Amino acid sequence: MACLFLFLIVCSSCLESGFGFAFRSEGSPLMKLKEVQHGEGSFWHITDLHLDSSYQESAKPRNVCLTSLGLPVTDAGPFGSHLCDSPWKLVHSALERMRALFPHPDFLIWTGDSPPHLPVGDLSTAAVLDTMRNFTSAILTAFPNTLVFPALGNHDYWPQDQMPGNVCEVYSKVGQMWKEWLTDEALATFKRGGFYTQLVPWNHTQDSTPLRIVSLNTVLYYKPDHSTAGLVDPGGQLAWLKGVLSAAQRDGEKVYVIAHVPPGVDPWHNTTFYNPATNERYLSILRTFADVIVTQMYGHMHNDCFRVLRDTAGTAVGSVFLAPAITPWKPNNGKIASPLANNPGFRLYKYSHEDYGILDLWQYFLNLTDANLKRFADWHIEYKMAATYNLKDLRPHSLAQLAKRLEEPHGKAFALYFKYFLVSFSPNLPCVDCCQWIHACAVNFLDHTAYQRCLAQHRQTERLPSGCFAR
Ligand SMILES: [Zn+2]
Repeated sequence: MACLFLFLIVCSSCLESGFGFAFRSEGSPLMKLKEVQHGEGSFWHITDLHLDSSYQESAKPRNVCLTSLGLPVTDAGPFGSHLCDSPWKLVHSALERMRALFPHPDFLIWTGDSPPHLPVGDLSTAAVLDTMRNFTSAILTAFPNTLVFPALGNHDYWPQDQMPGNVCEVYSKVGQMWKEWLTDEALATFKRGGFYTQLVPWNHTQDSTPLRIVSLNTVLYYKPDHSTAGLVDPGGQLAWLKGVLSAAQRDGEKVYVIAHVPPGVDPWHNTTFYNPATNERYLSILRTFADVIVTQMYGHMHNDCFRVLRDTAGTAVGSVFLAPAITPWKPNNGKIASPLANNPGFRLYKYSHEDYGILDLWQYFLNLTDANLKRFADWHIEYKMAATYNLKDLRPHSLAQLAKRLEEPHGKAFALYFKYFLVSFSPNLPCVDCCQWIHACAVNFLDHTAYQRCLAQHRQTERLPSGCFAR
């Protein structure tokens, strides 16, 4: 008995120091192999939960939440406000609804950003880790039998955006939180740089193609990350990625890439999210391994959109999906808030169990104003993408056809795209002329130069006013 006691003490101290392997609970989702049938599967994607634990339905508009940065909140209800990050009640209602709809998805993707939008001085590493621990536990409780593949967001660090390309407290402690989902091998690279790869551990028949998840830490490429500025390959992640994709190619695997900050252009700011040189380097790898990478999924922008990756000849070779946020928060500088926001949303992807191609996307949303009025979170389907746009599936070729239709001036497809971009926050808001071109060019071109060329074509008929870019 004493020996056993000693053994437990020694091993738990090994774990605390991040040394050795991770102990998992007996019920760990990692230990449960899911039986996969031929045909169609589905998986959940949630992102940008951004908890504001200070949120309260106060009658005093300046006491509602810290994330309004002092702006008065006059529309506070039980599920939040567009001036505030998510209250717990909103997050719980989302997870409860997801569990009620599909309690046993093949897996769940969670692409980061848990802490609130607060000034650096109002947060700390401990506060960031606390929020991430709480969300990890909430997701584990809602989906105890589901394997979750998380990725780190730019807010999942303190100071926000400043993620380093080396070992740090956040990678080490968050890795421990996620040990119920990640293998020891995945945890080892995660603790070095916040990224990992893992096969989806299914009970495969021998002739099935394996599916590999590659979760990247693209915060390292994000322009505001000063700790990696000027580095050619922070954390050695790009070299590692090439190695992983080469091995996947050799072994006949297919890959889903997930991360928080996407490549390509941010239409709100008319520029790339990453520093331009890294954007090009990353896209070049994605093109080289386009036969292995089935799709890519990101968060960060809080809006619902997609991108088409093209090869140098202009042929669609890849797809990029950006899922909308759970948080309804809209940017604000303490004096004035953006007129545009998003309703909270989460989504379910339908995909082929044969080649893992994306067949459809079911976007769920919460009309926040209605939910607050009724004091009931009536999450429901906003749209099903393939049927809405009359597409046979969401593979790159089909998405490229839609991307071209988005360039039609005053076209029906673009009006729908922009409505869903804001998650039906302002369904009839027009986005025409320069507004439409920015979005359509961003969907069609991920390289900065190709995007600028696309815009220049439209400038021939009308100059782009600078107001087009502001949110
Ligand atoms: Zn975010």
